[in-house]
Amino acid sequence: MPGYFPQSQPFIWDRRTWGAMEPTTNLPPLGPVTRVTVHHTVSTRKDPLVEIKDIQLYHITKEPEPFSDIGYHYVIDRAENIDGRDIYQGRKPQSDGGLSLGAHVAGHNTGNIGVAVLGNYDQEDLSPGQQQVLEELLAWLSYKYDIPIHQIKGHRDLNVTDCPGDHIYDRLPALRENLVRRLYGIQVNPAYAPLPNGEVRIVINNKELKPSVPAFIKDGKTVAPLRDVAEALGQVVYFDDRSWTVYVQSPKG
Ligand SMILES: [Zn+2]
Repeated sequence: MPGYFPQSQPFIWDRRTWGAMEPTTNLPPLGPVTRVTVHHTVSTRKDPLVEIKDIQLYHITKEPEPFSDIGYHYVIDRAENIDGRDIYQGRKPQSDGGLSLGAHVAGHNTGNIGVAVLGNYDQEDLSPGQQQVLEELLAWLSYKYDIPIHQIKGHRDLNVTDCPGDHIYDRLPALRENLVRRLYGIQVNPAYAPLPNGEVRIVINNKELKPSVPAFIKDGKTVAPLRDVAEALGQVVYFDDRSWTVYVQSPKG
């Protein structure tokens, strides 16, 4: 489900800005988008246009399996001045404008958009400008491609790596919270502690539901008493014991 609140595309410099070389092979399409992965580049600080071009050269010449082009779809510079113009197009898109298959998470590139931040975030922290730009880019991608917020990952969630550095990785939970507020209007309550026994807390319109039996997760889905949930949403629930059927009905008027 796309967000309730449309997110506009932030400003993105195109590949010509940083003097991109053509890919060395034809790039296949990305496929249906399911995820975004955040990286840091651990590259030497220099003019961002030169830094991005150097990363492309490094990726194109990588042994034993060169990446054909810069591996990431988007690159964010150090954004020391907040002017909203700090995102660069990375990997060359398809001729129809769709994203190409990236090369940024070994074994997990299908449907996975790669966003990289210039720098080493074990050593430095994200500037306020970078936090803002990263959030705006991820909000737009989540909206455009209908990506579930929990599928915004750090590289270390998927491969054995330190990437994207502690200072980016540790900010991802707060970033996801900001995104659910921007996209869905959901206010995450940081005061909630986990419940015992793997029980799942349910909050409906900012009010905690006390279900008649505890909710839990089964096969990645939340299982909860239907009557409690539906009635909290103002619906009428009727169980017919001849047909063994639950009816949920929106009240008239
Ligand atoms: Zn990475």
